[in-house]
Formats: sequence, C-alpha cells, structure tokens
Amino acid sequence: MTVGRLAPSPTGVLHLGNARTFLLAWLSVRARGGTLLLRVEDIDGPRVKAGAFEQTLEDLQWLGLDWDGEPVLQTARREHHRAAAQQLIDRGFVYPCVCTRREIEEAASAPHERDVADGPVYPGTCRGRFASREEAEAKTGRTAALRFRVDDDEVSFTDEFCGAQRGKIRGDFVVQKRDGNAAYQLAVVVDDAAQGVDEVLRADDLLPSTPRQLLLQRALGLTRPRYLHVPLLVGADGLRLAKRHGDTSLRYFRQQGVNAADLCGYLAALSGLRPRRGPCSPRELLDGFDLSQVPRGAARADDHALL
Ligand code: GLU
Repeated sequence: MTVGRLAPSPTGVLHLGNARTFLLAWLSVRARGGTLLLRVEDIDGPRVKAGAFEQTLEDLQWLGLDWDGEPVLQTARREHHRAAAQQLIDRGFVYPCVCTRREIEEAASAPHERDVADGPVYPGTCRGRFASREEAEAKTGRTAALRFRVDDDEVSFTDEFCGAQRGKIRGDFVVQKRDGNAAYQLAVVVDDAAQGVDEVLRADDLLPSTPRQLLLQRALGLTRPRYLHVPLLVGADGLRLAKRHGDTSLRYFRQQGVNAADLCGYLAALSGLRPRRGPCSPRELLDGFDLSQVPRGAARADDHALL
C-alpha cells in the first residue's frame, strides 16, 4: 500500500502554491487508498515562525485535506538525523567543513560557479583537510559542518511525473549544519525512510534537490521512494508566487469570504482536474483522479478569479 506524506515547512502561512501541491499529493495517495502522513519540517530554526504549525494544520483542514496518525515534528527526530550523520562519517562519505558562507562566496566569485537557488558552489576548501571533526574544530577554533563528498556529480533517475532526469549535483553539499542540526537534504531522506514513505509528490522547485537525496539514500542504504514533481504554481505574470503578487495565503482568501469549496474548485480547474471552476471538495475529485491530466507547464494562478 502506498505511503505518501505532506511535508510543510512552518515558515509562514500556506499559500495557493502549497495548497495546490498538497491537494495533488493528497489525491494521489487517497485515490489509491494509501496512507498519508503529515510531517512538519520545523528543523530550519531561524525560518520557523511562531504559530505557523497550528496555522498550517488549520489551513489544511479547512481545505478538506486530512492525514493519518499524529503529525510528526521533524525537530523531534534530531537523534535519528544525528545517527545518520554518524553513519555517513563512519562510512567516509562526509568531511568536516569550517568555511563560512562568506568565505565560500568569496572563493566562488565567477558567475558560472554560482547556483542561483543554492548559493555558490563549494570550492572544496576543506575536502581532505582534516582527519576528523574534532581535529577541524581544535585546529581552527570553529565549529564544523559536515559536507557530503560528491565524486560522481551526475545522477540519473526517473521522475514519474516529469520523466527521465539526468540531474547534476553542483559541489559537495552540507548534510549537517554547524549548529548540529541536519540540513534539509539529510533530514528529508532519513525521515521519509523511517516513516516508510514510498511516494514523494512535491513541487518541482525541489527537483534539483533530488539527485543529492538519491546519493544520500545510496550512502545510507535506504530504499528510494517514487518521485513525482509537479509544476510550481506561478503568478499571472509567470513568476514564482511571491510577495509582489499580493497576499495569496489561504488565510487571506478565507478572510475575504472565499469558501473552501470555491478554492478547491479553483485549484482543480487550474490543475486540469475539472473542465471549469465550480465548488467542490477534495473528496469529490477522488473519483477518476488521474495525475496525467495535470498540465506539464507551470500553472498560472490569477487570484482575482477567486475574489
Ligand atoms: N518542507 C519542504 C518545503 O516545504 C518540502 C520537502 C519535501 O517535500 O521534500 O519546501
């Protein structure tokens, strides 16, 4: 039986884009009678907003999405992330890195060494420099992060929505931050495996992360879930939904008197699941749900249509 998950980051309120991705993830699992877990990815300390966890749950429920069991907080799984990081150390896949963000930026000033979404490519300064984390910290007086050594930077895989992928990994990447917390790449892989998740449906802004996650799964001997990356929702101008598009949070629409069925119907029409807009619940979309109806290109949201 399929096990999927909703994995919101409580870094703000749910907006139309998250809502559409979660609706599709919910439909994909529920249409096959699978189990859907809710994991709140609250590990990114500074970006986590107070109250966002409760708000996220409330927004999902308002929209008519449910999940099985209790929500799992990623911060409650820190010990497991640490154990996985230790395994990576023991198996020689990672090395300690004491570089600051600024040093990395300065070292990688050439434009082609910069990755737009992920910051500059790590130039490999600490690769092979220290025998252990203890040595790195003692010698430099700094705390060390752990970086995964990428020897083979091309990873092929099949995305069940996007098709065959040949992903490039741009440089050694951090798996454990200097504050001791797992980086997203490690936490997500460890938690998906521990929770038995075998279907990951998420927005395609995470498609470039997938090759790193595959390397980590291989290094840790974990099974690989099936991946489906659906297009991100963009504003009417074709750009990624952001502040300039005004408030696209579910909370805002709710305050403006939009009801959940109208919002769901709007997302369904945007996603090719219904020929035209009209109120419906997620449950009403289950019958005959077919992910291949979702258009391949980025879906444009016009929030005026909702108000
Ligand atoms: N928590 C991540 C986000 O909200 C999603 C992680 C994932 O689906 O792998 O962007």
